[in-house]
Amino acid sequence: MIPPSPACRTEVARRADYRAFYENYHELYLLYAQARIPWSTAAADVVSAAFDDIAFVWTTALSSPSAAALAWGLLRQQVAGSALCPSCRPACAHCVLRPAMADAVVLHAYIGISLSETATVMGLNRGDIGALLCGARRRLADSHRLVRAMSHMGLHVQEGGDGRGSC
Ligand SMILES: [Zn+2]
Repeated sequence: MIPPSPACRTEVARRADYRAFYENYHELYLLYAQARIPWSTAAADVVSAAFDDIAFVWTTALSSPSAAALAWGLLRQQVAGSALCPSCRPACAHCVLRPAMADAVVLHAYIGISLSETATVMGLNRGDIGALLCGARRRLADSHRLVRAMSHMGLHVQEGGDGRGSC
């Protein structure tokens, strides 16, 4: 695939639908990046690079089943390149959980946005997010390492409890 020229990207950046997407998601993308990258200037750069990636594929994204899901994948990829995983200590949620599960934990449990908002930004439905969080809790109940990961993420969990909550 031939990458669009910078001029094309600027063109996309001026489009009302892209601008609206940027306005809606920029702040939350930044909070997510800051949660995973210890240096806030790096987090801002990473988010900016992710929006560049999104601009590259914007037309494709609009005709895909979920532009939000496609964009989220690009953001996660950019952030993963700058996060310390898998060597961060104590291990974070992304070191020990599947990426989508860990993202749901960061957004809902750590940043504290609602299930609906978490679903919207990840391009999933509420039921998917509930299932991801339940999966995370189940894994938490099974692993000592996860207990540390979850407390690192600001979750208050009882070590030795069944960890299943309302699942
Ligand atoms: Zn990590």
